[in-house]
Amino acid sequence: MTPKPARKPLVAGNWKMHNNHFEAIALTQKLAFTLVDKDFSAADIAVLPPFTDLRSVQTLIEGDRLQLLWGAQDVSAHEDGAYTGEVSARMLAKLGCRFVLAGHSERRQYHHEDDALINTKVKRILERAMTPVLCVGEPLEVRQAGGYLELVLEQLDGGLDGLNAAQVAGLVVAYEPVWAIGTGEVATPQDAQEVCHAVRRRISAVHGDATAATARILYGGSVKADNMPAIMAEPDIDGALVGGASLDPGEFVGICRYRDQSTPANQR
Ligand code: PEP
Repeated sequence: MTPKPARKPLVAGNWKMHNNHFEAIALTQKLAFTLVDKDFSAADIAVLPPFTDLRSVQTLIEGDRLQLLWGAQDVSAHEDGAYTGEVSARMLAKLGCRFVLAGHSERRQYHHEDDALINTKVKRILERAMTPVLCVGEPLEVRQAGGYLELVLEQLDGGLDGLNAAQVAGLVVAYEPVWAIGTGEVATPQDAQEVCHAVRRRISAVHGDATAATARILYGGSVKADNMPAIMAEPDIDGALVGGASLDPGEFVGICRYRDQSTPANQR
């Protein structure tokens, strides 16, 4: 398999339902003041604000020619029409979104999204030339019972159903164990690597080694500046989906600069 350095790391901040559009501008500006060219050469860095902030964030980033990328946290499975409250992929593409999350565990849990619906969302995102970030991950009881690899691979197969190798090669999978999201309970780097490796092997089995070597696989779940270097030292982990810590600009920049800490992760 191609060595890890072929894949550019991605650090994406999932702001969840935090920050109105004024606060979003302030946070984006703080990131822009701190992040420098070297940071953007080393990793793709993205923010995923709530829908209502997207236009403001887009205007700021484009107007100031910032190198930050941006995207959305969800999308409708429908293309257009009488779906009150929904936001379509066409609308997100028009707002310059590069990434869109699909299947975040909070959507699966609170909105009962299943793999078939998430698969439709992934297809909607791809149709509009944006990059899906397919989120997979097991709840605590599944981890404790030992069936976590099976569940994650089932979510992966379901989410990617019907996609071709080129589409899979360009997308992002985020492994986010539910028990580690917002709990402060970070998976060990070895736990995260085990699942990310299994995800890459499954992609390889279905779409071939070249596809698996290109797709980016992130870890998410209580990532902070101090645990990021060890996570990034693992060979199948290409970055992080960051929730709570992405709301703190200093912490988020520290995560993006994981290489500056003296650990084996500096090799990447
Ligand atoms: C997330 O919501 O995607 C997430 C990883 O959250 P946190 O970093 O707060 O655990």
